[in-house]
Amino acid sequence: MWYNKLNLWLTSQFRVVLLTVLGTLICIGIALAIDGYSFDDGGWRWGARPWNNVIIPLLVAPPLLYFLLTQMRRLSIAYHRLETVASTDSLTSCLNRAAFATLVEAYLERFSTSPHHNRGAMLIIDVDHFKGINDAFGHDHGDEALKLVAGSIRSVLRSVDIIGRLGGEEFSVFLPGASVEQCQSIGDRIRLAVGDVAFLPEGEPWPISVSVGAAPFSSTTTFSELYRVADQYLYKAKRDGRNRVVVAPLLGTASPPPS
Ligand code: GH3
Ligand code: MG
Ligand code: MG
Repeated sequence: MWYNKLNLWLTSQFRVVLLTVLGTLICIGIALAIDGYSFDDGGWRWGARPWNNVIIPLLVAPPLLYFLLTQMRRLSIAYHRLETVASTDSLTSCLNRAAFATLVEAYLERFSTSPHHNRGAMLIIDVDHFKGINDAFGHDHGDEALKLVAGSIRSVLRSVDIIGRLGGEEFSVFLPGASVEQCQSIGDRIRLAVGDVAFLPEGEPWPISVSVGAAPFSSTTTFSELYRVADQYLYKAKRDGRNRVVVAPLLGTASPPPS
């Protein structure tokens, strides 16, 4: 929206006042210029009643501008809040699937022609036997477990990494610029952090583990391709016994599908 360009955000009350003052000065300047210009001789002179050109804009412009800018600021705040609500998963505060996919697509598109930045990895993280938690302790405890899992994934990520909840008990992490080794080590740190989480549904500790499929890339790719490959390797991790990280071969290099 065009009014977002003014950046009238929560901390911008000062900007509203500043724009009101500037707008009023501009109004005074325009009034003086119009009144002071003589169309007869094409020259400038001090207007007939110059103080009117100061007093009238001073009375009208500040309340009007202040009112309009305050309304625009309210609109801007509401827009930002709506944007956050629309892109966030309310249970875990991770990005929701659509927002996560959009952000990853934007990164992949932006850096597709830059050999230095055009690498990274996408991880899909699925909680093992999650249905068992719901069945044993109920949906609310299941929700609590999901929040703890999201928190422990977040705790090991770098500031540049992006986390999203793809749905149910499935999360995804995008690691911009990560090498295959970093992808493996961040995957392992996620697995260990989740394993350490203190989930005590009825006062007793209940172990939680995750399986991770990882798709590293170092050439042009898309969100759907990364998702497809990471998902394939997630299922390999499940088949191989769960609670593990399986990294696909670097995308772009010829390799057989997972056995
Ligand atoms: P696996 O190790 O193969 O991944 O088994 P799983 O039990 O984790 O997987 P499955 O797909 O069988 O079960 C996922 C369950 O997650 C089923 C669904 O009821 C539950 N679920 C999905 N979304 C939510 C949610 O928001 N909250 C809670 N509490 N449960 C959810
Ligand atoms: Mg699962
Ligand atoms: Mg699942």
